[in-house]
Amino acid sequence: MEDVKGTATVEAPSVSSGVVDRTTMPDLLDRTLARFGENRAIDFLGRAWTYRQVGALVDQVAAGLQRLGTGPGDRIGLCLPNTPYSVVFFFAVLKTGATVVNFNPLYTAREIEAQIRDSGTTAMVVMDLERIYRPVAEAADATGLAHIIVCPMADVLPTAKSILFRLFKSGERARIPADTRHVTYADLTREAHTPDPVTIAPDALAVLQYTGGTTGTPKGAMLTHANLVANVRQVVAHGECAFRDGEERVLCVLPFFHIFALTVALNLGVVIGAELVLLPQFKLTELLKTIGRRRPTLLPAVPTLYGAIAGAEETRRIDLSCLRICISGGAPLPAEIRTRFEDMTGCRLAEGYGLTEASPVVSCNPVDARANRDGSAGLPLPDTLIEIRDPDAPERLMPPGERGEVCIRGPQVMAGYWNRPQESDAVMIDGALRTGDIGYLDADGYLFLVDRIKDLIICSGYNVYPRMIEEALYEHEAVCEAVVIGVPDPYRGESPKAFVTLREGAATTADDLMAFLSPRLSKIEMPRSIEIRDSLPKTMVGKLSKKALVEEERAHGASA
Ligand code: AMP
Repeated sequence: MEDVKGTATVEAPSVSSGVVDRTTMPDLLDRTLARFGENRAIDFLGRAWTYRQVGALVDQVAAGLQRLGTGPGDRIGLCLPNTPYSVVFFFAVLKTGATVVNFNPLYTAREIEAQIRDSGTTAMVVMDLERIYRPVAEAADATGLAHIIVCPMADVLPTAKSILFRLFKSGERARIPADTRHVTYADLTREAHTPDPVTIAPDALAVLQYTGGTTGTPKGAMLTHANLVANVRQVVAHGECAFRDGEERVLCVLPFFHIFALTVALNLGVVIGAELVLLPQFKLTELLKTIGRRRPTLLPAVPTLYGAIAGAEETRRIDLSCLRICISGGAPLPAEIRTRFEDMTGCRLAEGYGLTEASPVVSCNPVDARANRDGSAGLPLPDTLIEIRDPDAPERLMPPGERGEVCIRGPQVMAGYWNRPQESDAVMIDGALRTGDIGYLDADGYLFLVDRIKDLIICSGYNVYPRMIEEALYEHEAVCEAVVIGVPDPYRGESPKAFVTLREGAATTADDLMAFLSPRLSKIEMPRSIEIRDSLPKTMVGKLSKKALVEEERAHGASA
């Protein structure tokens, strides 16, 4: 879509009424409680809670947190896999007016320590699982953290599983010292009270979401109540009534400590009164069984997960017809995976795009399959403006069809990075958020992402986009996953190197793959080498991790 100046910007229609909206995150839960109180809110491995029960637990925990002294201006860490605790504590912390700091439960003690220090977290919520508790306890010693709130896994499991857990999982369960730092869930909620009412401003900080973990120094994106409320409402409005209030079941397999799952699984589920089917970790067999048993209707996930479902033989034995809408985000969705997944399941897979700094959703393909545009990350959400700017002269807007840095305006854009004014300034241009992604808008305003500025490979002075090479590799029927990175090259400065895994039962060689790529890529884009591996490193949400491969290559280079 061209604006009057002939530059590429696209603005979605507005859904705002013009009245100042003061809705906060706890308000969203309260509204669903009023409409769907008796509906199932959570299914955890076969055990269920209604919205009314979840609302009561949120109040009880919020009151307990207040008794510990928690209130506006405090930052409380959640270091939890997807369990009922993660839902309850998320809303309870927000209800006290404090800020949630999301921690990845697979982090090392050092990583947790760094994030506690940077964010000024004063209390952490963990499970009584040794592998989650231990690093938090070490980090707590190093930082002098005031409280560790410990939630027992056995108490949320269905009866049979809980008995087995208590009897046989003694090695997995953490020994919790009886001291003033440690607060058990039972202690926290002993005196069942309703919390003291707190007035929360819409621009109060709701979540500190650390990002940059796969690309740079982690920093806390400040997401306000207004940001999160706006983004989930934008997603609902963009869906154009595709989501049926009070009737959906959302499969929550992506961890809520990642912003994609927080908004597109947890918050979306709550706003539309859906049942949240929680899976604490991703194992394909378990996931497929859960789909068979719990019959979820919505599945937000990352491309590698759709690739795993579409590439596995066992998928054919499961009836996946319950799935109505699948939303892919977090990384480019290869066209091959989308087609294979849709053919196999009969379910529509819509690709969206976002980033932590935008709470995170920016654009999505329409749910109506006829409006899907292959290879595109879709149209901007309502109230969102996408601008394409010249990466070398960011004040210049690029014409439609031309590549540049994707920049965003909208109510979902963060308030800045926590305690990092310089980085906060650097990421904004004329009030728009610079995403660090390269893309273009077509004539109808669909966004196409080409690559990330940081991932660009400069080969003999030419720009080589790894994503183009990855897409070409995915066209080969034996390829399951593909990643391309830049490696040092004595003649060209840098050149592309590809890493692939193969589909179950498939066989091919690096030479065959090279021959396959040759007619599809220009000479400069041809990888210098292709390595076939059994598995590829992934980030905690399951995105393929370029960073890990770059570090491996660097280490090899250093030792060579
Ligand atoms: P994070 O902040 O960890 O969610 O990562 C955000 C980044 O993921 C974006 O800046 C993009 O580089 C990438 N990303 C997300 N969605 C897509 C998509 N649909 N296509 C390509 N890249 C994507």
